[in-house]
Amino acid sequence: MAGQDTSKDTKKGKEPLPFLRPGLFVAPLSSEETPHLIGSRCKLCGRVFFPKRTVCFDCKHLDTSTMEEVHLSLKGKLHTGLFVHAAPEGFKTPYAIGFIDLPEGVRVFSQLVGENLSDEVLTAGREAEMIIEKIREDEAGNDVVAYKFKVI
Ligand SMILES: [Zn+2]
Repeated sequence: MAGQDTSKDTKKGKEPLPFLRPGLFVAPLSSEETPHLIGSRCKLCGRVFFPKRTVCFDCKHLDTSTMEEVHLSLKGKLHTGLFVHAAPEGFKTPYAIGFIDLPEGVRVFSQLVGENLSDEVLTAGREAEMIIEKIREDEAGNDVVAYKFKVI
């Protein structure tokens, strides 16, 4: 077809496409770069949010300049984890999901990965580290990546 998208030929060096929506995380483009979840901190009360917000839930200050973008810690503690056995098409089951508490005081929902994940491994307080992983390719052959937490 004339004028067809040729992005498949030029995908090297392109930024990977974020799963869900942009602005949730920074995906490293090389092995020297570190991935980060992007949150926001209220300059008035210090509360941190993920995903980032323009207004603080606590202060309800409508001036958006009171919020600043922050990179969240890579490591946190597992709060809750469970296995999913029924999933939308394209997802291989079972897989694990859960909440991770980060040192900034924010609780993040995430897919959980790790070697030999089991009910015994998914215990509260377990250390978990954020990673960025390719989850699939889109129709043009671009990598689609997502953040996940690796239970250690
Ligand atoms: Zn606040």
